[in-house]
Amino acid sequence: MKEKSIFSQIIDREIPANIIFEDDTCIIIEDISPQAPIHYLAIPKREIKGISDLSDTDHGVIDHLMIAIKNEMSKEGIKDYRLVINNGSEAGQTVFHLHIHVLANRTLGWPPG
Ligand code: 5GP
Repeated sequence: MKEKSIFSQIIDREIPANIIFEDDTCIIIEDISPQAPIHYLAIPKREIKGISDLSDTDHGVIDHLMIAIKNEMSKEGIKDYRLVINNGSEAGQTVFHLHIHVLANRTLGWPPG
């Protein structure tokens, strides 16, 4: 059987995490190693490895995450934030379960490193 990703283990409550939001199809958690005062990870419950692994019928996956992020940040009154998706190890991906980083509450430089 395929080994579960660390995020699936969090979703299944096998390992702990600070859960910010959850619904039927996604979860937003705090990153264990925050790179900004706010550093969330928005994760679809369905285990998709990364953006490259989305299929043509998966439009709703990203839409859903984006709306969940927007709602959470609105709820917290945070207007300025950066969303990052690392796709592939050369791009910095270390957990191969699709996720969107949400970074806020500090000035963020551009271009990113
Ligand atoms: P990536 O490098 O794949 O874009 O991002 C993976 C993120 O997951 C990293 O920012 C890392 O700190 C975070 N992460 C890795 N393991 C855990 C964990 O067990 N719990 C939480 N909350 N975050 C994790």
